[in-house]
Amino acid sequence: MLRKLLFWSFAVVFPLPLVFTYDFVATTVPPSLKFYIFLGLIAYAWWLLSIALSTRPSWLDRFVGLPSIYGLHGMLGVLAIGMAYVHREYSYSPTPLARNLGDWAFYGFLGVLCFSVFFLSGWLVDRSRLLLRAKGLLEIVFRHQLVVWIHRINLVIVAMIWLHAHLLVRTNQYFSFMVLFDLYTVTVLSVYAWKKLIASDTYLTGTVISNDALGGSTRRVSVDLDSKTATLRPGDFFFLRFEGSSAVSREWHPFSVTDDNQETLTFTIRQHGDFTRRLDNVEVGTRMRLEGPFGRFESIVQNRDREAPLVLVGMGAGVSPLLSLAAAHHTDREIHLLWAVRSPEDAYFHDVLKEYEAAPGSRLHATVSVGRFRREDLAGILSAEAVAKGNFFIVGPNLAVLANQRLLRRIGVSARRIHQERLTM
Ligand SMILES: Cc1cc2nc3c(=O)[nH]c(=O)nc-3n(C[C@H](O)[C@H](O)[C@H](O)COP(=O)(O)OP(=O)(O)OC[C@H]3O[C@@H](n4cnc5c(N)ncnc54)[C@H](O)[C@@H]3O)c2cc1C
Repeated sequence: MLRKLLFWSFAVVFPLPLVFTYDFVATTVPPSLKFYIFLGLIAYAWWLLSIALSTRPSWLDRFVGLPSIYGLHGMLGVLAIGMAYVHREYSYSPTPLARNLGDWAFYGFLGVLCFSVFFLSGWLVDRSRLLLRAKGLLEIVFRHQLVVWIHRINLVIVAMIWLHAHLLVRTNQYFSFMVLFDLYTVTVLSVYAWKKLIASDTYLTGTVISNDALGGSTRRVSVDLDSKTATLRPGDFFFLRFEGSSAVSREWHPFSVTDDNQETLTFTIRQHGDFTRRLDNVEVGTRMRLEGPFGRFESIVQNRDREAPLVLVGMGAGVSPLLSLAAAHHTDREIHLLWAVRSPEDAYFHDVLKEYEAAPGSRLHATVSVGRFRREDLAGILSAEAVAKGNFFIVGPNLAVLANQRLLRRIGVSARRIHQERLTM
């Protein structure tokens, strides 16, 4: 909580140097107009910060988690458009080109924001099955990569606002302010360009050593790393890219590590979309790049009461990060692992779970259910102590995670003991 507060406070502080510098140098601008210029500056700074956050630095992920990073990324976009609206309504641009650029940027950003909220965030689709179905249909045309490219129009919009500020005499006459304004812009865009064009050369690399079918629609892909990753922790995930394979595109997709092996990483991948369905054709020997590791599950496990049970609730391939937590902790923590699968043949980790349960000193109890766990199932599986003190980790598709979260709240698990990972960004 404190970390999230610090993180959000940074967003509040980020535009202040720009605002204070303008306030200090623009002594002849009337205060009423200055206020609306401040709003424009805050909106611009927040758009820049939002772009910087989209580079998802892994140190920041370890600090607050990727969902919080993307959450702030989205919220800054929404807050900034509110500020930009007031700025546009109540200030004026004497230069026609500057005015037009400001207007185009505003409407362009509003359009991209609505589009991105629908396709990239779960804010709407996680709350309505109808919208989720509509998104699924529209994704036939608006594939994830196309959506990401449309989202990147924001970079053009930032360039338009940058030019808008450079054309206005009420800003461009103040040299020190313009230097700071450009410094903000150049720094953020350089970080973004570095991330997109150069950073991947520094990521982990490896070679696919096996790619096997599991159940009806899942694959297990194992990757031998060229160098050991010292920072990998149980429950972590990576963004993966297959290099030099014509079988799948070179997009980055997130997948969790399934066990606690640090040299050979194994991923359990459910095949349901364009990218994952083509994984059948990835050959042994294919080279891979891995961005990460990301994830906060292990630090949550370490920072909570060591005597409290861990309750791991996985849906389908969502069991992957939980299995790696179970592999690391089945002898030192009391663990209840609940795994819901669609059909009996999808219970492909049945033997692995039995092995962990039978290990000397094991404190793991695993329950596999075909179909979701219901309230009465949980009452039979979980002890009163687990419900009262346990730390719950839920991983699966968004709607299923939210449904399980509601169920756990109803049986008396407090919100601060429920941690979750949803299988879409
Ligand atoms: C933190 C995290 C960990 C994950 N771990 C696993 C795992 O261990 N096993 C597993 O099977 N799945 C996992 N997923 C889900 C997996 O990343 C998606 O199912 C996969 O990327 C979908 O790709 P697709 O093109 O086949 O499907 P599509 O049908 O194109 O996409 C289905 C949905 O997945 C999302 N998606 C698509 N492409 C991407 C992308 N490049 N980046 C982010 N989201 C995308 C979109 O919301 C889309 O609506 C994880 C997701 C996240 C966020």
